[in-house]
Amino acid sequence: MVTKRVVSVMGSTGSIGVSTLDVIGRHRDRYDVYALAAYASVDTMVLQCLSFSPRFAVMVDEAAATALREQLPAELGTEVLQGEQGLMQVASADGVDMVMAAIVGAAGLASTLAAARAGKTLLLANKESLVMGGHLLMQAVRQSGARLLPIDSEHNAIFQCMPVDVDATPRHEGVSKVLLTASGGPFRRWSTEQMAAATPDEACAHPNWSMGRKISVDSASLMNKGLEFIEACWIFDLAPQQVEVVVHPQSIVHSMVQYLDGSVLAQLGNPDMRTAIAYGLGWPERLTSGVAALDLIAMSRLDFEAPDEARFPCLRLARESVAAGGTAMAVCNAANEIAVDAFLSEKIRFTDIPAVIEQTLERVVFVEPDSVAVVEAADAEARACAAGVLANLQ
Ligand code: NAD
Ligand code: MG
Repeated sequence: MVTKRVVSVMGSTGSIGVSTLDVIGRHRDRYDVYALAAYASVDTMVLQCLSFSPRFAVMVDEAAATALREQLPAELGTEVLQGEQGLMQVASADGVDMVMAAIVGAAGLASTLAAARAGKTLLLANKESLVMGGHLLMQAVRQSGARLLPIDSEHNAIFQCMPVDVDATPRHEGVSKVLLTASGGPFRRWSTEQMAAATPDEACAHPNWSMGRKISVDSASLMNKGLEFIEACWIFDLAPQQVEVVVHPQSIVHSMVQYLDGSVLAQLGNPDMRTAIAYGLGWPERLTSGVAALDLIAMSRLDFEAPDEARFPCLRLARESVAAGGTAMAVCNAANEIAVDAFLSEKIRFTDIPAVIEQTLERVVFVEPDSVAVVEAADAEARACAAGVLANLQ
């Protein structure tokens, strides 16, 4: 008999959330779902509650919470909570062992930090919270004795290729470099002129991964790799020059670790997030995930090339934000979220995204991110500034 682990899934109705519940559903003898949390997708939430009978279901949107309360049968015993407060409560509650942080964007910061401060095993998909408040989040993990298990496929690959302490702290002695792979996204071969005319659906048509719309646009602009570059520096305590981005269009090698002796360790697999999720849920054990075995003969070749920062300036902007330090990374992230939203609602062109970020980075003054309030203020200031930049573009 294994002791069941108790899990809260933040962002349960999204791409990562659904994949997480798919893996948990394969191992019902090992996991109990304590809470499911999302913004407003009532229909998906009802089905998830009926399937997993969580103690709590959180809807941030008030009308969605009311609708969910009406639709859930009383005998299920699921209590519906509403708003940010509900997110914080279920991410840090006593009795919860693991928290899957899979809310998209800056909206995930507070609950991710709450889980870290409460000493939970944190399955981190919400990369934006680390980009914004990396210093605070890593400090919270260390001080509370929380465990951080990276779910982003690249960081999960790096974690699998590095020596790791019993408390899940990665050890980078002997590591010379991390090679962060990038698919190059749907516009890898597109000219800047072609990208200027790209539609949201074209940007979201990722060649290898099926994901939410925000991260899909980030993958097309390479800002996803920029955010992941920052994420890798924080999680593995690496200097920026130790992280190199390598374009690998097949998305089979999920990332690599290069050692001082010339060894390079890689983690490979089909591009399906359930592998990384199962690794996080099961660590240090391995779980079945539903992902098909990798057929290297069918794949037959793996290609690698350098990223083109002239066509994809977001990567450079992310690197410059790391170099600038302080709240620059939070500003970069916030400006990107505003620009991606505007692109998805067809207010700006795809190629305007880096322009909005660059101009915002030029206008906002960076400070030391020594508290959540400071990070949130930088985020708010950057959003207001980016909105102003957008208004001038339209
Ligand atoms: P998604 O858009 O599919 O889902 C987002 C989830 O967050 C939904 O459940 C939504 O209801 C919830 N949400 C949105 N705004 C919220 C708010 N204000 N408050 C509370 N909940 C809110 O996104 P996704 O693709 O699953 O990505 C989730 C996170 O995981 C992102 O940070 C992304 O960068 C990261 N990630 C995703 C993938 C992937 O394959 N999808 C891979 C690596 C990392
Ligand atoms: Mg990734």
